[in-house]
Amino acid sequence: MATLTLTDVTKEFNSGQNNEVTAVDEVSMTIDDGEFLVLVGPSGCGKSTTLRMIAGLETVTNGDITLEDRRINGVSPANRDIAMVFQSYALYPHMTVRENMRFGLEESTTLEDDVIANTVTETATLMDISELLDRTPAELSGGQQQRVALGRAIVRDPAVFLMDEPLSNLDAKLRATMRTELQRIQADLDVTTVYVTHDQTEAMTMGDRIAVLDDGTLQQVGTPLECYHTPQNRFVAGFIGEPSMNFFNGKIKSRTFVAQQFSYPLSEKIQSAIGGTREITLGVRPEDVILHQDADDTIQANNHCFDCVVDVVEPVGESNHIYLQFATDNRSQSETFIATVSGMQTINSGDNVIVEIPPEGIHLFDTHNGTALMNRSLTDIGSVETPRLQ
Ligand code: ADP
Ligand code: MG
Repeated sequence: MATLTLTDVTKEFNSGQNNEVTAVDEVSMTIDDGEFLVLVGPSGCGKSTTLRMIAGLETVTNGDITLEDRRINGVSPANRDIAMVFQSYALYPHMTVRENMRFGLEESTTLEDDVIANTVTETATLMDISELLDRTPAELSGGQQQRVALGRAIVRDPAVFLMDEPLSNLDAKLRATMRTELQRIQADLDVTTVYVTHDQTEAMTMGDRIAVLDDGTLQQVGTPLECYHTPQNRFVAGFIGEPSMNFFNGKIKSRTFVAQQFSYPLSEKIQSAIGGTREITLGVRPEDVILHQDADDTIQANNHCFDCVVDVVEPVGESNHIYLQFATDNRSQSETFIATVSGMQTINSGDNVIVEIPPEGIHLFDTHNGTALMNRSLTDIGSVETPRLQ
């Protein structure tokens, strides 16, 4: 039971000859008691460094880390009441599963032998690894090793779990199963958890809240749906969501957004959201792009509709990802953008279609600093509150 707080936490690595790397730059956030927070971002953005500072495996250059009301910057890893699970599992190869699980408890507590034995047995049941207790890590599959690594963290009953890409080495199917199972176990144990991943799908599906990190800097902290629907900047908009949001750069010219390939008239409401900014990036998610295969009069008259050509159709079963190009473009040079439509809709490469980019589906960003000036309207999808697992 614990609230974990990071205040302006910074990590500089000094690799000599003035080669200073700011791996983590003034990160501040509070992870609530019992919360499952996912720290997500591209490779090299500082996720592991952040986690290792919380664990005490890395010193903090500036800022404070507190657990409840206790500042833990200088506390040794063993005395932090924090358990960490690594991508590499880091099991002791010469010890059995039982010994691996006992070891942490023996090191960190003064419990009697029979209490330790019972705790190990109970945790093994929870993790469904009772059958494996007398095997060594070499006799286990990757998935089983991962369960043991998690079991070894859980058995210690810590105040905080830290997990660094713990599912990365598992195949896709097992990863999906373990995602759900981990969420269930975390909700059952109600232990404050920081889970690191570079995979936005894991972040979206697992986190009570997600914290998006880029280049050592925190970009946004919010529920998965807040980050998805109301990104604070272009980075978050592009990082969260698969396929990624489409972006078009352009300029505002007399109440119209003018990009290289198309002109898009703006309502007064949208103009006032933009204010005086003139260089704008328009974003639209693939599922908000509408494809018309037949052009009736209404569509012809709609000035948010554009003639396009289908470049590639990527079927994924329940939906098709349609890669599109503007008909006016020199097609060998132009970039494609994506619309996601129902898998039942028959569309072929080379088809001429009319693409509608509805004003209620667009996001607008300041091209220079990436700040979101306006996000998609949420009135047609209701509330974006994510219920927490109970
Ligand atoms: P992530 O886990 O998000 O992939 P890391 O936290 O491992 O990223 O690394 C963040 C940045 O810090 C990277 O630029 C990395 O090269 C650098 N870095 C990490 N550890 C060290 C170190 N021990 N010495 C110097 N630079 C490091
Ligand atoms: Mg890492």
